[in-house]
Amino acid sequence: MRILVSNDDGYFSPGISALAERLRPLGEVTVVAPERDRSGASNSLTLDRPLYLRKAPSGFFYVNGTPTDCVHLAVTGMLEHLPDVVVSGINHGANMGDDTIYSGTVAAATEGYLLGIPSIAVSLTGKPGTHLATAAAVAARLVERIVRERPAQPVLLNVNVPDLPEAEIRGMDVTRLGKRHRAEPVIKVQTPRGEPAYWVGAAGSEQDAGPGTDFHAIAAGRVSVTPLQIDLTHHAQTGLVRAWLGK
Ligand code: MN
Repeated sequence: MRILVSNDDGYFSPGISALAERLRPLGEVTVVAPERDRSGASNSLTLDRPLYLRKAPSGFFYVNGTPTDCVHLAVTGMLEHLPDVVVSGINHGANMGDDTIYSGTVAAATEGYLLGIPSIAVSLTGKPGTHLATAAAVAARLVERIVRERPAQPVLLNVNVPDLPEAEIRGMDVTRLGKRHRAEPVIKVQTPRGEPAYWVGAAGSEQDAGPGTDFHAIAAGRVSVTPLQIDLTHHAQTGLVRAWLGK
């Protein structure tokens, strides 16, 4: 089995090391990740400069680009064989609800999916990331499953894992994305030279966190697995817009 591992926290992140180590017994693992923390990079591709692929002493490859660049470069220009699965993570922090729009972790997996490869994004909901081993074990279980029962169409799974010891995980739920309130406002700061500057504020609190959502599963100490799709068409509004256009 060939496994491509990436992330958005950077190739030096403890999360990606824990993931790569846990997946290594399952097959041939190649790590290609951003050279710095690109959390929030979403699905961006770097088009205004060349990308360099360099190898760290750890054996991990790193790229001066985004998570999407990493998977795109690895699959279309670096690897001799297509991977059987792309795994992105383990992210330090949750990617639930609206987070998935901004997430570089989800974006790396999305790029694999768009290239026709089953892909999994894995996030540990605790920011410091105490129980990386729990998320790594969940990832390994899903990878084995996906590769053994290769689905007819590629799948894209967004997986969030409670930051708990494995023995305290209460199970795994198939979920839908919840919804957050609007984000906190930007915070205005002063630079040392007296120029105003702005930090993007925190994500909003949970708005739709009811049963069936990713938020709900995590609050109950369960792993959340959300199958994602990329078609953003709002089918229910096509009639409204058709009327506007006189169609
Ligand atoms: Mn991140």
